[in-house]
Amino acid sequence: MSKVLIIYTGGTIGMKKDYDSGSLVPFDFAHLIEHIPELSHLDCELKVITLSLIKDSSDIGLNEWLEMSKIIETNYTQFDGFVVLHGSDTMSYSSSAMSFLLQQLDKPVIFTGSQLPIGDLRTDAKENLISAIQLALLQKDGVPVIQEVGLYFEYKLYRANRTTKINTEHFKAFESPNYPVLVDSGLHMKINHQSLWRKKEENSHFSVTQRMCDEVVLCKLFPGFNPNYFESYLGAYQPKVLILETFGSGNAPRDKHFLDQIASLIQSGIHIVNVTQCIGGGVMMGYYENSLYLKDLGVISGKDITTESAITKSMFLLAENLNRDDFERAFHQSLCGEISE
Ligand code: ASP
Repeated sequence: MSKVLIIYTGGTIGMKKDYDSGSLVPFDFAHLIEHIPELSHLDCELKVITLSLIKDSSDIGLNEWLEMSKIIETNYTQFDGFVVLHGSDTMSYSSSAMSFLLQQLDKPVIFTGSQLPIGDLRTDAKENLISAIQLALLQKDGVPVIQEVGLYFEYKLYRANRTTKINTEHFKAFESPNYPVLVDSGLHMKINHQSLWRKKEENSHFSVTQRMCDEVVLCKLFPGFNPNYFESYLGAYQPKVLILETFGSGNAPRDKHFLDQIASLIQSGIHIVNVTQCIGGGVMMGYYENSLYLKDLGVISGKDITTESAITKSMFLLAENLNRDDFERAFHQSLCGEISE
């Protein structure tokens, strides 16, 4: 019988209404089947592991990502697929991080959550959970169909490291602006085979990286931005990567003060990565003069990567201790489908 491991980390999905008190209380995932009898029709064995501490996803970071990846590493050979239940707020960050940590993945790891608690009458949690498990079980000729970290929400499976949370109100909370949907769940599961990820070296084995570095900061530009702000990065706490969210296709002010600050950050050893603040499309440095200056100073193009992936990819690459050129080369490469080459 096929086996799926569910890793429960917290978030709205794990709540139910206590009708006596009227408030939301955590749902005991050890009794999953008792609460969701539909799961017994799936014809598979389900095991639930709960993270050492259940958290709102605002509290999830590097330690939890390493804990989740350790759980998957320990159980990798015993299960056909993995479902991670996670709060939706930072799900795109966590699932992007996992896509870098779980190397040469050849089984499905599906993140999901919900906008309404699983115990709410109008919940979206049941459909999200049941479909995520079905996707984790999906095989063709004994081989898993999904061999990457995916994010399933509201009838769609996305490549996780291409997603971003776009809505706090609608059930359709995620979007993958620069990469096609992997599976569309309607009457049938419509699989977009040509968009699925396959590891680059067929004979390589699954392994887990147990290191990440948090010395990454994010700065979103806005008209009227005061470049003196950058001086704070040259003080006592100096980050190793600055993700700069620029305008449109990678443009920034051309005034001397701004560009001098960028130049001194780079000279001090900080990698600056240019990502767009637009929801879709990417950075094309040199397309406009206002991005050519950045290119000439040595700013790295983030192309069409999401901010979530740029941050977690930087955390992953920093732990590899790469020199400037190797960092830039690795950043431009698609490690697990997070960027268009
Ligand atoms: N605040 C919750 C979280 O991200 C929201 C959710 O689960 O959707 O943990």
